[in-house]
Amino acid sequence: MFFRWRSGGSEVTTCACTPEWPELVSSLDGHPVRGVPSPGGSSPMVLMLGLVAVCGRCAARYRGGWAVAD
Ligand SMILES: [Zn+2]
Repeated sequence: MFFRWRSGGSEVTTCACTPEWPELVSSLDGHPVRGVPSPGGSSPMVLMLGLVAVCGRCAARYRGGWAVAD
């Protein structure tokens, strides 16, 4: 059997804030952008560019759908 123990690693995906995910931030062309949760799935722009959103306070990686707020 071949196990992949790399899943997870040091990457934090659980927000430590109260309430959770007070704000989402990402980076677009080197510029910080704000994100908003999108329960229906990430926006086409997010998917196309492969953007990653993190919590603006604890920097946990947001794994749900989201969209750029701007
Ligand atoms: Zn947080």
